[in-house]
Amino acid sequence: MLRTLLYLLLAILAITVLRSVIGIVMKAASHWLSGASSPAVRDDPGHSVPTAGVLRKDPVCGTFVSEAISVKLKTPAGTLHFCSEACRDKYVETTTSP
Ligand SMILES: [Zn+2]
Repeated sequence: MLRTLLYLLLAILAITVLRSVIGIVMKAASHWLSGASSPAVRDDPGHSVPTAGVLRKDPVCGTFVSEAISVKLKTPAGTLHFCSEACRDKYVETTTSP
């Protein structure tokens, strides 16, 4: 009875260890394969997927908008970024009116 329990525990332990070992080996293998087999497809900062860019807060509605697609307005204080022309117009309206 005790032997059976011991064997069961050992089996569980062995499976757990084996699983983690396989996981580590697979991870290392995939890393090694992706790193060694295709050096031409390595991450190139110049040709990487374009990121969303810097996020700017729309001062009118508070929406965060990517600098690349924002509606810009140059002010003496700096460039402001708006989510839409409507927001920009609203901002111009409120800042120019007394
Ligand atoms: Zn807006």
